[in-house]
Amino acid sequence: MRPVVIAANWKMHTTPADAGELAATIAARTRIEAPVERVICPPFVCLAAVRDALSGTGVAVGAQNVHHELGGAYTGEISAPMLAGLASWVIVGHSERRRDAGETDELIGRKLRRAVEAGLRPIVCVGEQLDEREAGRAEAVVRGQVHGILTAFGDATIGDVAADLGESGVVIAYEPVWAIGTGRNATGADAAAMADTIRAAIAATGLVDLGAAVPVLYGGSVTAANIGEFLAEPGIDGALVGGASLKPDEMAGIVARAGLTAAARAGGAG
Ligand code: PEP
Repeated sequence: MRPVVIAANWKMHTTPADAGELAATIAARTRIEAPVERVICPPFVCLAAVRDALSGTGVAVGAQNVHHELGGAYTGEISAPMLAGLASWVIVGHSERRRDAGETDELIGRKLRRAVEAGLRPIVCVGEQLDEREAGRAEAVVRGQVHGILTAFGDATIGDVAADLGESGVVIAYEPVWAIGTGRNATGADAAAMADTIRAAIAATGLVDLGAAVPVLYGGSVTAANIGEFLAEPGIDGALVGGASLKPDEMAGIVARAGLTAAARAGGAG
């Protein structure tokens, strides 16, 4: 059974002075019995404060990015080994990094490999632009992203890739770019269709088991009011939440709804 995951992407918000308190508040407001994996991804400089604040709460800490090299002359960058003891998850390939830092599928695949090698659980982001959806190319674009990322990841043989990725606990986040931070979300049905596409694209690279087992999250203007539409889809396993993840009330509502899904799925109710 796939886990239900709610991951918070705080983007470039909070400081080391206030991040711990917000993280602790969210942890307290989202404490539930059901097996929902909660992850908070603050800015790099807030990782230590958030780690300390979340100690013993069951909420994991994630980074928002990682460099594709282990070390060297890369001013301002953070490598996977540097995250040891600070984070157990990492987001790779967020569309804001594709947009602002020119990240390509090839680069994202190399970041993914560094994350897996370092034992970090990756959240790999894919998603189409608005013009691509309007042109009827959304599924082809996302298929291409999955293929490009896994090809770059798998500099080794397909067999090795399956072993590494399968054991990494990798999660895919389907994030249509036009829905991120816009208040405009995809429909549950569109997200579910894309989750099928993503799983098929992974399987098509030879990673058949991973294609079936990988959790797929939806991301794009998720709130407590609309999370139910996505989690009602059996193929959607949670959410990557941006703006709403800075609001404890919203996170409480989102995780509570995820708890209903996790409990129902654990009980075999879909
Ligand atoms: C995100 O940052 O990944 C995201 C989905 O943002 P928002 O929820 O604000 O659209």
